[in-house]
Amino acid sequence: MSDCIFCKIAAGDIPANKLYEDDDLLAFWDLSPQAPKHFLVITKKHLAGPDDVGEADDQLIGRVLRTGAHLAVENGIEQFRFVINNGTEAGQTVFHFHLHVLGGRSMNWPPG
Ligand code: AMP
Ligand code: ZN
Repeated sequence: MSDCIFCKIAAGDIPANKLYEDDDLLAFWDLSPQAPKHFLVITKKHLAGPDDVGEADDQLIGRVLRTGAHLAVENGIEQFRFVINNGTEAGQTVFHFHLHVLGGRSMNWPPG
């Protein structure tokens, strides 16, 4: 999608502080971190969010989770929180599927 900021990052048109990249996925540090360590794992394919994920994406989304966990540990985050927002009420601001990986501090529950 031409007007999607994460599609632009995936295409290399906007720079990002990348941790990992392959043909299908990209991980980069969040510009506005909400924890001492906070990065995002995105699909290169444009999916608007969790409610846009189809059966054909099952393997891709599984890789997002597994990659997020591996990268967390690789970057010294042994204990972490995954967040995926869907819709403005849930706090979604970028409508391109992304997994937040947060760590480096104690987390509260319930989340705000
Ligand atoms: P969400 O609110 O769940 O849609 O999350 C979007 C996240 O993307 C926020 O945490 C933003 O800080 C982050 N973000 C937006 N633009 C960029 C960017 N250019 N580089 C890195 N992170 C970004
Ligand atoms: Zn996109």
